[in-house]
Amino acid sequence: MSTLSELIDADRWIDRLAQQRGHLPESVELAAVEDELRRRVAELKVRDSARANAAAALEQSQQHSEPLRQRLATLRAAARSATGGSRDLVALEKEITHIASDVARYDDQELILMESLEPLEAAVRDLKHETQPLIATRATLTATIAELQVSIDDEVAAKRRERDDISAQLPDGVRRAYDEALRRAGVSGGAYVDGNRCDGCRIALSPLDLDRWRQGSAAVSACPECGRVWVPCSS
Ligand SMILES: [Zn+2]
Repeated sequence: MSTLSELIDADRWIDRLAQQRGHLPESVELAAVEDELRRRVAELKVRDSARANAAAALEQSQQHSEPLRQRLATLRAAARSATGGSRDLVALEKEITHIASDVARYDDQELILMESLEPLEAAVRDLKHETQPLIATRATLTATIAELQVSIDDEVAAKRRERDDISAQLPDGVRRAYDEALRRAGVSGGAYVDGNRCDGCRIALSPLDLDRWRQGSAAVSACPECGRVWVPCSS
């Protein structure tokens, strides 16, 4: 294998590693997990807001009912120990009946609110519980991706050292043409002629270019389309 084809293969290898790094199946999976987590966070907000509204309504009712309950207890204690005239006692009983009726209304209302709060609290709790495994999956995937990327980066670094050593063995003119084509076209600065096509850009060679390439007449034979240096016919 010629030095030029070794360099092309090394650079194409590095490009494949870069592609692989950017398209890890774990990254695709992580993106799906994160989408689902975002959906659940939004759902949790909705559920928690419904729970908070019900809890606030219950608390508000209790703030109103609590002083009435205390007042009722005080009045009942007073009625039990009453020694005054019957007129006072009648007034006391009347107030007790009135307040007891208000307290009973609050009791009914608070029972309904408590009953509605319970499933709303459960809905929030359930969603948080159901989401735990997904959060764990996200952590595992994130760690796996980081490990894979480090491993690919190490491989790329080793391959780069290898390609630099190969590149140093090329004649100066070929290396300059190669580096220039690599800078402009990417992936590699050279290409093979495959059938009658440049395998770097897939353009078909003109009969004249094909002849020149076959005869190896030019010192550096390069693709007129992508500029990549062709591996000579004799290689
Ligand atoms: Zn080409």
